[in-house]
Amino acid sequence: MREGKGITIVKADITTLDVDAIVNAANSRLIPGGGVDGAINKAAGPALAEAMMAIGRCPTGEAVITPGFKLLAKHVIHTVAPVYAQHGEDDVWRLLRNCYRNSLALASLHGVRSIAFPSLGTGVYGIPIAGACKAAVGAALDHLNGGDAPAEIVFCCFSDSDAAYYRSALEEARRKG
Ligand code: ADP
Repeated sequence: MREGKGITIVKADITTLDVDAIVNAANSRLIPGGGVDGAINKAAGPALAEAMMAIGRCPTGEAVITPGFKLLAKHVIHTVAPVYAQHGEDDVWRLLRNCYRNSLALASLHGVRSIAFPSLGTGVYGIPIAGACKAAVGAALDHLNGGDAPAEIVFCCFSDSDAAYYRSALEEARRKG
């Protein structure tokens, strides 16, 4: 499934992936929480929470970077998705696209060649998967068209149903593209 270039969609626990960087769905205070954030912190060890809290804050749509500590991934990029119920429709998609764009830009600055994203914002933050996967795939294709690193983008889904949404969003974007 992994080609080393372009977009790959997998169903997996993101903490197990052997990529240069994994992305965390963090909260804006960078205090380790539940969901994918909890799983990443558990796998990385307590040093990750310390590194996050030393940074202290990340506005919605922005991204910050820490080491991966005990993870296979060398880096963790923490980005803060919008809470669906707190934003109007336009703002949600703009802010979610910013999460992907800013994470990819930060990854590029740090020489990351392969990066894995969870389905940002679609857990506790309540963003509908159908729109979220379009924002994710659109931002990834824009990035890859620009030719910058990272050249390998993995969408790490936690369910078969999420993976199916991502696959059809990718097919649709490629058909239109
Ligand atoms: P948010 O607060 O941004 O909504 P969540 O962590 O609640 O973030 O959920 C984001 C997505 O991450 C959801 O699709 C959830 O099922 C998924 N997820 C949870 N744990 C993991 C994991 N270990 N690996 C990959 N994805 C995960």
